Amino acid sequence: MKTADLFEQKTVFSLEVFPPKPDADESVIYDTLEQLADISPDFISVTYGAGGGKNGCKTIQIASDIQNRYGVESVAHLPCIGLTKAQAHEILENIRESGIENVLALRGDRTGDTEAVGDFRHASDLIRFIKENYDINIIAACYPEVHPESTSAVDDLKWLRHKVECGADHLISQLFLDNRYFYDFYEKARIAGIEVPIEAGIMPVTNKRQIERMVKLCGVELPKKFVRVLEKYEHNETALRDAGIAYAIDQIADLIAEGVDGIHLYTMNNSYIAHHIFEAVESLISAPLLTAK
Ligand code: FAD
Repeated sequence: MKTADLFEQKTVFSLEVFPPKPDADESVIYDTLEQLADISPDFISVTYGAGGGKNGCKTIQIASDIQNRYGVESVAHLPCIGLTKAQAHEILENIRESGIENVLALRGDRTGDTEAVGDFRHASDLIRFIKENYDINIIAACYPEVHPESTSAVDDLKWLRHKVECGADHLISQLFLDNRYFYDFYEKARIAGIEVPIEAGIMPVTNKRQIERMVKLCGVELPKKFVRVLEKYEHNETALRDAGIAYAIDQIADLIAEGVDGIHLYTMNNSYIAHHIFEAVESLISAPLLTAK
């Protein structure tokens, strides 16, 4: 099923996982997937390391297993930086043959000379390429607090609209910790003529190092309320985990009340956290929409 069709009926609830490191025990991810499948999410997406390395094979294998073994719709991420068109064809053929109908088309983060050797400069190039050659539902990334390389919010929105015009059917946002950024971005996106569903990306924060890394990488603001939680519980792992879960539940409940199209939970492969959050918001997600979208 194409993920863009899910939004007609309900508030979508989806999850993100990442493949194990090359030398890690693969059975762990399958235990995690089994537990995540219990939630019956609308889909599970699988990240893909930029640069077209071996990790990509795992992404497709795991996305295929999510679909064929656990009966959950899956999405394979595909960063295009450093890829040639021939390599992109090979990966997309593999995706199609595995029965995966959805791709999250990304540029990927720049490292060294990856951009210089590839045929794609931006996610929009890959989106157009997929649209012209494959019958695959295309998802793209968006940034409520503006992509760190953008010179302005207006410029970022202009390029986001371009991604949709090139063929993106649905958007998933970068994580944010203050819902006001998402509401403001959502409104501006609609004014800019972007009409596809926009899922809100939520990352439950469970340790201080993780959030500091994310803030640096993604340019996400830490609200005062959040900093207070972090400072109070930074030396108590269990309390910080539970406070992170509570914060995410609070964010999600508010987003659903405001009529968000969907929630995409960055699980960090932690099924305990995903279960706790899902159980707290399940009835909110399942409530019928007031008006058909
Ligand atoms: P683009 O859409 O190409 O945007 C990058 C910058 O260029 C932005 O500033 C934008 O405004 C500008 N821009 C866009 N199009 C044009 C254009 N045509 N001309 C000029 N400027 C333009 N990374 C991974 O490596 N693997 C993953 O699995 C992965 N999953 C992700 C999932 C989500 C939901 C999100 C939000 C991000 C994910 N990322 C992943 C990170 C992502 O690759 C980085 O954020 C990257 O820096 C930008 O990717 P993009 O697809 O948004 O790029």
